Amino acid sequence: MKIAEVKTYILETTLSEPFHWAIGEAVKRGSCVVEVITDDRVSGWGECFGPARPAAAMVEAYKPWLIGADPLATDKIWQDLYGAFRDQGQKGVPICAISGIDIALWDLKGKHFNAPIHQLMGGPIRTEVAAYATGTYRKRSGDPLDYIVKEVLGYQAEGFTACKIKVGFQVDEDAALVAAVRHAVGPQFGLMMDANHGYDAIDAIRLAQAVEHLNIIWFEEPVPPEDLDGYLAVKASTSIPMAGGECEYTRFGFREILKAGAIDYLQPDTCAAGGLSECKKIADMANAFGVRMIPHVWGTGIGLSASLNLMAVLPHNPPGRRPWEPMLEFDRSEHPARQAIMKTPIEHVNGIVQIPTGPGLGIEIDRQALATFCVN
Ligand code: CA
Repeated sequence: MKIAEVKTYILETTLSEPFHWAIGEAVKRGSCVVEVITDDRVSGWGECFGPARPAAAMVEAYKPWLIGADPLATDKIWQDLYGAFRDQGQKGVPICAISGIDIALWDLKGKHFNAPIHQLMGGPIRTEVAAYATGTYRKRSGDPLDYIVKEVLGYQAEGFTACKIKVGFQVDEDAALVAAVRHAVGPQFGLMMDANHGYDAIDAIRLAQAVEHLNIIWFEEPVPPEDLDGYLAVKASTSIPMAGGECEYTRFGFREILKAGAIDYLQPDTCAAGGLSECKKIADMANAFGVRMIPHVWGTGIGLSASLNLMAVLPHNPPGRRPWEPMLEFDRSEHPARQAIMKTPIEHVNGIVQIPTGPGLGIEIDRQALATFCVN
């Protein structure tokens, strides 16, 4: 079996209502989907996180190392691709492109052996995961104290037991919002907050100290991803654990975070940090450092399924009668292509999501739906 063809699909849709976070706004939603096709006409699907057009261009650039290669040799291919542009491509879009390719290769491997990816990666350790809702983005008008509190109450009514609140705008405003949400949902509901690196350490510390009494599970990306000293300063100032890693790449990048002891909840994105091959290595490294891992998830059902397959094999740390379990980041913001490109959507029931059990990613792509979102 050889790789015969590699295709990219740039998906793009205009949102019914733009939404923003601390450092940016989404008017459209896009993604780069990768299809790797073997010489016996079997397709594997992957997805790249980040800007779709540059990711697709990078996938194109990796093609000479892919065409004719054995698709089952996932680690060898990963090393070939990383080595191809190592000198200029250790982080960012080149690694997002490798991620999409690697996920597609794992999907192929699963189809070849008629087994779910998580089985081939040594699991499953778990067959379902509790999900937390990601949402609470800001609208261009309206009072966040009103519409965000209502949004979170909606997640609670749906059966979610935890939700992440977007912060990073202005300290007093953020503190008032977190307090209003906590007041509305009661003391038991899980709350995280995510600044999307919109703060420096001074303001991040002010917010952490202002909401510390509200039982916050983690403070995500309080400061820019390169500022590990900033993470350490915020961490030293509060009992709220630090989360981050969606902007970090490969075992080499995560090694530095782990060595510094900067982050308590490590959040590599399967579609960005190097794919399933690399995220399993990062997970095992986090385990060795005693750090919890909860993958970052953002994108279509392909990324969602890849994350679920990874989550199925995240090691307990430590094992026990009631070990700590990772939660799935379940993005609830508008993304018309997310579920539509799969023949069977991945949904939650009372905040619980089943890990797919079909061969490979365990999903079937609806090519017609894919074509309706495709702009290349
Ligand atoms: Ca985030």
